[in-house]
Amino acid sequence: MNTHHAKVLIIGAGPAGSAAAIYAARAYSKPLLVTGLQAGGQLTTTAYVENFPGFAEPVKGPLLMEQMRQQAENAGTKVMYDIITFVDLSMRPFRLQGGSGDTYTADALIVATGSEARWLGLPSEKTFKGFGVSANAIFDGVFYRNKEVVVVGGGDSAVQAALDLSNLASKVTVVHRRDRFRAESILKDRLLSKPNVKVIWNQAIDEVIGEHEPNKWVTGVRIRDVKTGDVRELPTHGLFVAIGHDPATALFRGLLDMDRAGYIKVGSWSTKTSVPGVLAAGDVIDPVFRQAISAAGMGSMAALEAAKFLAETVETREVEIIGVYG
Ligand code: NAP
Repeated sequence: MNTHHAKVLIIGAGPAGSAAAIYAARAYSKPLLVTGLQAGGQLTTTAYVENFPGFAEPVKGPLLMEQMRQQAENAGTKVMYDIITFVDLSMRPFRLQGGSGDTYTADALIVATGSEARWLGLPSEKTFKGFGVSANAIFDGVFYRNKEVVVVGGGDSAVQAALDLSNLASKVTVVHRRDRFRAESILKDRLLSKPNVKVIWNQAIDEVIGEHEPNKWVTGVRIRDVKTGDVRELPTHGLFVAIGHDPATALFRGLLDMDRAGYIKVGSWSTKTSVPGVLAAGDVIDPVFRQAISAAGMGSMAALEAAKFLAETVETREVEIIGVYG
């Protein structure tokens, strides 16, 4: 069990954390980047990224994130494959505990822990999670080759998941609670032109139906027409839940000011949180745009603000100490 100190410690290795690491390294702050459970973040479960500038052709999500990590390391970042489990922001240097048993201390901290998939919250959804219920079409899609699946949701995640699954499954039914998608136009058009995709509008999923042990697996979903209240069963081999994401900020509850939904509050045109020296970037502060490119932009802002904070506080203090004892 070791203790690592960094001038700048970044938690999270998605686009926000990676961009913060690249910028912080270039400011000679020798950053430490602690990746968390899903090193590379959500884009590692995205087949192709088509809207990140700099790539004329679609780029594989995992490859894009691998490039960002390498770029950060080449610039001077040290990457730690660890999960932060405890944070103490009551004094500086900040103190963090890793799941590995290692301790981290940092003069400035950048929170870029991203967001996590939202679930419907049905008891039957919980029962069949991993047995036909999934939130990850890229990882779990292979189990549904030539089978029928249902996707619930109407945003970019749902439409992208349905598109990915349409290349494997025999039929994809998208169940959406309203009568229009909120997804990007290009994705919507692409989905609606797929011959093996059907969209059922104005329907909510009330229950996941399935067989129990020893052949535990989903066999269907009970859907309800939100306008008429009519209920019916839809047979399916799998349910993909893609109804949005919530900020992954539980670790900072009570430590940093947040709104009711758990987004960390920052200043206008700033990534400064309620604790001096703690910056936040990406999905943890953004309930509106939540794009890889905007997250990367916020990561760069956080690193620049961390450098300014260090110049005004820690480094000045070091100079003062040298002045007294030197
Ligand atoms: P989102 O945009 O918030 O969409 C969530 C969808 O799920 C909405 O259609 C919503 O319905 C529906 N929904 C929410 N709660 C529900 C519930 N309890 N039951 C049934 N349906 C429910 O979330 P997202 O699709 O995960 O996208 C998040 C962000 O990531 C967005 O900014 C998106 O642009 C971005 N993203 C981009 C890409 C891309 O660029 N290719 C890919 C993935 C994600 P309503 O429409 O009725 O609210």
